[in-house]
Amino acid sequence: MPSASLRLAVVGAGAAGLAAARELRREGHAPVVFERAAAVGGTWLYTPPATAADPLGAAATHSSLYASLRTNLPREVMGFLDFPFVASAATGSADPRRFPGHEEVLRYLEAFARRFDLLPLVRFETEVLRVRREPGVGWAVASRKLGEKGSGEEEVYDAVVVCNGHYTEPRVATIPGVHTWPGKQMHSHNYREPEPFLDQVVIIIGASASAVDISRDVASVAKEVHIADRSAPASTNQKQPGYDNLWLHSMIDRAQDDGSVVFRDGSLIKADVIMHCTGYLYDFPFLGDDSTINVDDNRVDPLYKHVFPPEVAPQLSFIGLPWKVIPFPLFELQSKWVAGVLSGRIELPSKEEMMEDVKAFYLNLEALGWPKRYTHNFSNYQFEYDDWLAEQCGYPPIEEWRKLMYAATTKNKAARPESYRDEWDDDHLAIEANEDFKKYLKSVS
Ligand SMILES: Cc1cc2nc3c(=O)[nH]c(=O)nc-3n(C[C@H](O)[C@H](O)[C@H](O)COP(=O)(O)OP(=O)(O)OC[C@H]3O[C@@H](n4cnc5c(N)ncnc54)[C@H](O)[C@@H]3O)c2cc1C
Repeated sequence: MPSASLRLAVVGAGAAGLAAARELRREGHAPVVFERAAAVGGTWLYTPPATAADPLGAAATHSSLYASLRTNLPREVMGFLDFPFVASAATGSADPRRFPGHEEVLRYLEAFARRFDLLPLVRFETEVLRVRREPGVGWAVASRKLGEKGSGEEEVYDAVVVCNGHYTEPRVATIPGVHTWPGKQMHSHNYREPEPFLDQVVIIIGASASAVDISRDVASVAKEVHIADRSAPASTNQKQPGYDNLWLHSMIDRAQDDGSVVFRDGSLIKADVIMHCTGYLYDFPFLGDDSTINVDDNRVDPLYKHVFPPEVAPQLSFIGLPWKVIPFPLFELQSKWVAGVLSGRIELPSKEEMMEDVKAFYLNLEALGWPKRYTHNFSNYQFEYDDWLAEQCGYPPIEEWRKLMYAATTKNKAARPESYRDEWDDDHLAIEANEDFKKYLKSVS
């Protein structure tokens, strides 16, 4: 039998926290959303340029967005399932491109929050400091308003849904000799605009979407840009087509006291800046041991289906951990599942069965030769996972056009890394998507 309405704490009002708040309330629960920023949007709330106190760390920089960022997914694919990311007044659109600038995504998330009346659920400028389990009672959540001092105010909730994002705590590459290297180091988390790199020699470590974008951005003003890609063969040293100041190398071998950096390909470059575009770490500073989870080499462990720690399920859950995914629809499906499980409408297996499932999943990763840090990398099975969640919740599987469009975009990005946001071959899928959206357009407006 479904239980009564639960009082729930949701940590974060980014896309995941908003999706969770909507689904939890839809299920009849009473969510309170804690957000340390002054507005919704999470990652999509751009932090203007400033001198970061700690250019390698998270410090006070809220978001990892850079000024020129455009989405790396087409808007049809990216949007929530029943609130399409169409370029209409109802979604606050001012940038109708298929791969719009970051401001458009924030406008869309704001429109989502308004449309489903989520803003009254959010306590802005309120940081969750600690989440503590009180056996038999619930979870004590200590939070503090911005500007206040002390250990915060504690309240008890029936369950906690963690939606704190995972693009804030920088991961930095290990480089022999870098501690006495005289140049400047920073993480892409703190990169905003190319202008400060005018006429400089910049080394960018990484091969992710951000590394690709930022290297092109910086090359527009820098003297030279050298990309260090650890997955490139050791002998790699190639000038990039279309540029006379951009090179691709294998990984850095060492940094030296005279300001030079030596790559594994043997080349030596005197550089001004090393920028780490090396990703982020999962971090839950507000959770203690009683959460029963542990983060090791970017594996959040143990989690049944990347959401519930078996020992304390369903009173603690995590929305949005998987990466290499289409995030918003996945957040939506995970949230529907959590909401249904919390109300008792959807059943979870026993603790033992959930642990067995986690172990089997790890064994499978090992058999595939995937490193631990790829535990939440969903590049091979995001749609299988989405469809499993949808089935649990009694929803239809992910639309065929969305799956095909995601595959077409991945292919197009590889073929046209410079221009995939403006040239594509999948107009037929965009037409199909927009036809499909018609059934939701009433809910958008
Ligand atoms: C550079 C970059 C480009 C991207 N491009 C795309 C793209 O093109 N398309 C796409 O779909 N996705 C993209 N993503 C992925 C993006 O992160 C997701 O789309 C999504 O925004 C993640 O939402 P989230 O709610 O999980 O996390 P976040 O957006 O990070 O939100 C987490 C929220 O939790 C709050 N919070 C954290 N800790 C606390 C606490 N203790 N107390 C209170 N509040 C707290 C934070 O302030 C934040 O608002 C990109 C990500 C990055 C970094």
